[in-house]
Amino acid sequence: MPTYEEVETGIQHVQELEAFLHDFLPRLPEKELKDGEDLLPYVTRLDLHPPGFLEGSELTWEACDCKSPEPNGDDHRPLVLMRPGHPDAVGLTIKCVRWGSWKICVECCWIYCRVVLTHLRF
Ligand SMILES: [Zn+2]
Repeated sequence: MPTYEEVETGIQHVQELEAFLHDFLPRLPEKELKDGEDLLPYVTRLDLHPPGFLEGSELTWEACDCKSPEPNGDDHRPLVLMRPGHPDAVGLTIKCVRWGSWKICVECCWIYCRVVLTHLRF
């Protein structure tokens, strides 16, 4: 069983990941990206400081059909993080990445932005 402090640290790391994704993904040249393309060079090119959790892990572009439901099961329950949307946003934008054994889909519109983290089983 993890301790309170360990869970708290984990939640803080998830907040860092969420903030990074909201900062990084909107700046990607989506139309130029190929499925499975390594995104770390873009982190560098955009002059972002890569968060520590990217070290030693892969972050790749995911051509994802978010409308397909994920297989169900305890390991596949997605974790959803919501925040308010952008008042100037037009329509709904969805950008998806693969990070280690997670598929992460970021959806934004004027009402809300949400990050959906799905653990993948291999
Ligand atoms: Zn997706």
